[in-house]
Amino acid sequence: MSSEVAGTVVLKAQRVQPFFARHPWVFAGSVQAVSGGPPDGSVVDVRTDANKFVARGLFNRQSKIVARLYSWDEAVPLDRHFFKTRLERAISLRHHGLHLNKSPQSAYRVVFSEADQLSGLVVDRYADHLSVQFTSLGLAERRQMLTDILTELLQPAGIYLRTEKGIGQLEGVTLTDGPLSGGPPPAEILIEENGLQFAVNLAEGQKTGYYLDQRDNRLVVRQLAAGRRVLDAFSYSGGFGVYAAKGGATSVECVDASEPALKLVERNAVLNGLGQITTHHADVFRHLDGLVTAGKKYDLIVLDPPKFARNRAALPKAMQGYRKLHKQALKLLDRDGLLVSCCCTGLVTLADFEDVIAQAVTESRRDVQILERRGPAPDHPVSIAAREGGYLKCVVSRVI
Ligand code: SAH
Repeated sequence: MSSEVAGTVVLKAQRVQPFFARHPWVFAGSVQAVSGGPPDGSVVDVRTDANKFVARGLFNRQSKIVARLYSWDEAVPLDRHFFKTRLERAISLRHHGLHLNKSPQSAYRVVFSEADQLSGLVVDRYADHLSVQFTSLGLAERRQMLTDILTELLQPAGIYLRTEKGIGQLEGVTLTDGPLSGGPPPAEILIEENGLQFAVNLAEGQKTGYYLDQRDNRLVVRQLAAGRRVLDAFSYSGGFGVYAAKGGATSVECVDASEPALKLVERNAVLNGLGQITTHHADVFRHLDGLVTAGKKYDLIVLDPPKFARNRAALPKAMQGYRKLHKQALKLLDRDGLLVSCCCTGLVTLADFEDVIAQAVTESRRDVQILERRGPAPDHPVSIAAREGGYLKCVVSRVI
């Protein structure tokens, strides 16, 4: 792909401000005109209607995001050197800032899209393998170059492409899962997280194989779990449950609707020599109802559901889901019981999420104190210019 500027996107006068503030997404509604006939995926300059340079980005007429912006310096071409420097900066945060690369089995997010000024690229490291996701056509078309740079900088045994559902349609790009470099990854990659071992299936696991964003929230659960009966609802491969067991929980029940996920829970329990974990294949909503009816009680409940809303229209239903879950959980907790409530729906703010927890508490005639408000681990940063990228909320509370 050429780094030559192939066209110009002229902004509407009243829509310029966010882009001077370095928001990386130019929606069609902000565009007055496009000149030069740039092909999709090519480099464009974004200018004011007075022809003042604002930023340089990659064009895609097929996407709602007509241009994604990468540089605010007119002198800098979007070439290999540019992307290499951006990747080096992202790696530097994880390696030199956060010291996440201590072990050959380390796992962390190497690149997080807008937060690393690389809108449309997510790279995760799982031991000696990388998993890559493209959510923009412009960077997807530069995948060979990006693969080469990642290989040069990190020397992985393999780089595997994972595609996000629906992205082909949103961006007009056809991608299929498979190796970008190296052979197919082994069915089981062992990673180390805070001294614990987890099995990751890079090709078939959910998301890119594991939920790295919850790393530090799991540590909190380990700290709080001693002597407690723990319920890990929406457990996936048992991240929270394994930490809880390691922290001395008397029992840990992992509930998930996915059989392969529960197989991973069992594997992870064995890998860490933890005997007190059981798995329950069920819909969490129905399962919790059953536990309530049976009069079961827990001392610590983790609720980590999937994203409940992808757009604003789906928000009311999503909020109902969060309220229902919390009402059920409160029935299973006595006084002093702990609740770890997670929400990865980006459209729900922390304030909205706490409101919905508060509603559930009021309707249940209970009282709760918030112990901690947390976000994702810092290898999932948030760009100050695009704060909507901060999707994960984690509220730790206690029933009083
Ligand atoms: N807590 C996990 C991540 C959870 S991701 C971790 O720390 O790794 C959300 C999980 O919810 C997925 O594993 C998915 O299979 C599961 N899931 C989605 N809807 C469900 C439902 N209605 N009942 C049970 N599990 C569900």
